[in-house]
Amino acid sequence: MKVLEFEVRSGGSIRIELEKCESCETKACVKMCNTQGMGQILELKDGVPALKYSLEEVKRGACTEDLGCELECELHGNKALVITLPLPELDEYLEGLSEQPTYLREA
Ligand code: SF4
Repeated sequence: MKVLEFEVRSGGSIRIELEKCESCETKACVKMCNTQGMGQILELKDGVPALKYSLEEVKRGACTEDLGCELECELHGNKALVITLPLPELDEYLEGLSEQPTYLREA
């Protein structure tokens, strides 16, 4: 499986399953990433998203972690992109709840 995966400054990571991108008609993640005010780290190479910068530059903060790419891919792409960010305070908070929030409940 072809995957583009890179780390970001907060300690999280972004993973893109590039095989799903080949048939994506919108390439919405790249458009959003290059909108003014966003990170502008993605470009299209051979029809799929690629980094404009080195992995080290992206990890040092070139990626602004605005989350726009994931949302656009979910809404208009092929659901190929997942952002994982460490949120220990949220995990701690969720553990303390007597009832799980709706989005975590089994259907
Ligand atoms: S929007 Fe999603 S499926 Fe489309 S190119 Fe971007 S990551 Fe790939």
